[in-house]
Parts: sequence; structure tokens; C-alpha cells
Amino acid sequence: MDIKCPKCGKSGRIADSSIPAEGRNLKCPECAQIFTVTRQAPTQDASDTQKSKALNMIEDARDRIKRAEIGKAEAECEIDKILNTEIPQTKKHINDCQISLSKSQVQLEEAILCLQTANDLETKKSLLRTIDICKKNVALLSDSKIKLDNVLLAQNQALETYKETSIKYTSVISASTETINRLSNASIVNSNIGVTDISTPDDSVKKKLEATP
Ligand SMILES: [Zn+2]
Repeated sequence: MDIKCPKCGKSGRIADSSIPAEGRNLKCPECAQIFTVTRQAPTQDASDTQKSKALNMIEDARDRIKRAEIGKAEAECEIDKILNTEIPQTKKHINDCQISLSKSQVQLEEAILCLQTANDLETKKSLLRTIDICKKNVALLSDSKIKLDNVLLAQNQALETYKETSIKYTSVISASTETINRLSNASIVNSNIGVTDISTPDDSVKKKLEATP
């Protein structure tokens, strides 16, 4: 690339390959001015391609955020429904079932006790029918309670799954937001392929410049 001393205007040439990515300080052989040279920006085409690539990545990240936000809102809606409606309902049903079961068990025990002291046949027959009915009720209610316990277990499991889903979407949102911030701050997106960090002058490059007529 062509270089020119910013103080005295002396010009010369230097190989692009001798300039590191972070730039180089050079000393003018004419006026001893120290100045910085940086690599020339990539051609406009390459720069445009990189820029549109970066913009596409930003667009993709925005889409991911949008989808994740929808997914997260849905998961949170489910969490709310399970936590505030389904689980309390199931717990109420379990409680009702437990109360009925206890009543049937008491009735059964009472009938059994009465049977032991009953004298006439009709009373005995009647008590045996009651015992039979109570046994059936106890069996049915016990079965219902087991089923309701399983429903509650499944609801708690679903709750955990939705919580995990919500956390997963939250991390997608934060990772995508980070990507957008990183790309938005990247020099390529801001059009300037800037080289800002300047190394100390390198003697071999300095001599090269001084040797250039
Ligand atoms: Zn000069």
C-alpha cells in the first residue's frame, strides 16, 4: 500500500503483509515524524458481504427471541394454570375423597360392631347388606384416591417440565440478545473496519520505510 508522512508529505510504499492487524507505528526518514499505518479496509464488496451476513445473523437472533418469547409466555401460562387452577382442584378432590373414605370406613366399623350384638335375623341381614355396601364404597373410594394422587403427581411433573421450558427460553433470549449486542457493536456493522490498537514501532518495518525512496 502507499503511505505518506502526515507532516512533510514524503510518500513511499509498504507491503500490506508487513502491517500486523493491530497496525504499526513508522518513523518518517525525512522529518522523523512518527505516525501510524493500518491495513487498508477490505474492498467494498467483501465489506458489504460481511455486513449483510452480520445483519442476517442479527435478524435470525431477533427471530429466535420472538419465538422464545412466545414459547416462554405459553409455558408461563401453563404454569399459572397448573399452579393456580389444576393442582388446587385436584387437592380439593383428594380431600373430598379422603373425607368420604373415612366416613365409609367408620360406617363399616359400626355395622360390624352392631352385627356382633344383633339378635334377630332381619337386623343381621340388614347389617350384612350395609357391610357389603360399605366395603364396596371403601374399595371404590380407595381406588379413586389412588387415581387422584397419580393425577396430582402428573400435574407436578408437568409443572416442572414447563418451568424447565421457561428457563430454556429465558437462556435463548439472553444468548440471542448477547449475539445482537455483539454484532451491533462490531465494526463491520458500523461500516468502519477500524484498527485501533497500535503496536510499538517495529525496526525492520521502519528500516523498510526509510529505504523506500
Ligand atoms: Zn516526514
